[in-house]
Amino acid sequence: MPTYTRKVIPRDQHTVSRSLISANAKKVLARLNEAGYEAYLVGGGVRDILLDGRPKDFDIATSATPEEVHQLFRNSRLIGRRFRIVHVLFGREVIEVTTFRGNAQEEQDDDTPDRRTNEHGLLLRDNVYGSLEEDALRRDFTINALYYCIRDFSIIDFADGVEDLKRRRVRLIGDPETRYREDPVRMLRAVRFAAKLNFDIAPDTEDPIRTLAPLLDHIPPARLFEEVLKLFSAGYGLATWRKIRAYNLLAPLFPATAAALAEGESDEVICQALANTDKRIQQGKSVTPYFMYAALLWPALQAEWKRRQDNGEAPQQALQLAMSKVVGRQVQSTAIPKRFSAPMKEIWELQLRLPRRQGKRALVTLEHPRFRAAYDFLLLREAAGETDEGLGAWWTQFQTLDERGREQMLSELTSAAPRNKRRRRKPASRGKPPVH
Ligand code: ATP
Ligand code: MG
Repeated sequence: MPTYTRKVIPRDQHTVSRSLISANAKKVLARLNEAGYEAYLVGGGVRDILLDGRPKDFDIATSATPEEVHQLFRNSRLIGRRFRIVHVLFGREVIEVTTFRGNAQEEQDDDTPDRRTNEHGLLLRDNVYGSLEEDALRRDFTINALYYCIRDFSIIDFADGVEDLKRRRVRLIGDPETRYREDPVRMLRAVRFAAKLNFDIAPDTEDPIRTLAPLLDHIPPARLFEEVLKLFSAGYGLATWRKIRAYNLLAPLFPATAAALAEGESDEVICQALANTDKRIQQGKSVTPYFMYAALLWPALQAEWKRRQDNGEAPQQALQLAMSKVVGRQVQSTAIPKRFSAPMKEIWELQLRLPRRQGKRALVTLEHPRFRAAYDFLLLREAAGETDEGLGAWWTQFQTLDERGREQMLSELTSAAPRNKRRRRKPASRGKPPVH
């Protein structure tokens, strides 16, 4: 294991400019300092500024305990149990303040109530406070353990993080296997940062991942759900997806999708959805978790839906049962809050309804609250080569027309497709519905 030494980089030897730091983060730092506590900007806030990026949020590390921080800021709240922190709230901006954590290895044997690991080495609680140096060494990656001091504008680097930023690599602090066992989510974080920053993962940090990936099974589903959102909604979702697959991390996150892909289902809809999501994020548009999940679980749903129809179930019923099964399995790995699973299912159901346009059907579908999302999903499927070409274009045009134009399109549809009428009377003979 490397030995780490403290390095101080003075203000004239680095590129962190105060103007890039949020005014609220500076306020919190100043107030903590004035009250006599040590306080530094740390994590993504320092890392991303050094890389000429824009930090997503600002994290602060301090010698003040969570209670002391809470007392200093009326606009704050204490959160977390496994890991207690304070959120200082400024409108929509949240500044996360954490107290320096001790990383003393001997604590693990003592199993004190403040720092507990289970038999797998998993860190159940981490509330032993420590020095700045200890705090640095318990952080995950060297590039995340840089501290910016607002008093003299220096950067403190304990783990050669600046060197790793230059070499563009994600490297765990300490023994990689121990660090992954303490918190398997660090495997996901390694991949996320590598994709986001376009960095390599250092060989000793990379090597254990494929083997230790199943440790993610021990992580509570709600935490994994949050991590999945971070993985795929940071603007680098497609690159992240490829790495997640390459490092065997898909099975613990999306077991049914991993199984379906192993059996030959395509991930093209997922790739299209993530590429689309990345583009939306770059354009400053919002992305919805249910749309992303609808895509991430699509291969699993397809496989189950086909299997059921091959066993003689009618398409509609097969779809309902396939949805329940896929969602039921998924929530054991990553939770999916109801507010997301309900619209996700609606997107799926509408895939069956979008081709059925005769009579009043198209008009009813158009009024569906989830029409827009389902239509976008259809376009992705079409781009992925999954549906007959033309259906997406039909809906694109239909939406833009007035009542007369729509009627015209519908009447053309009826005269052009007498076969559909015959088919409707005999749903069991329709064959596989995913191919419309
Ligand atoms: P971003 O906010 O851009 O996703 P970040 O590095 O700021 O990246 P956060 O999740 O905000 O990531 O965490 C802030 C800091 O807390 C990290 O930079 C790292 O130092 C530390 N940290 C977060 N999660 C872990 C973890 N699982 N194990 C060890 N340290 C962690
Ligand atoms: Mg952060």
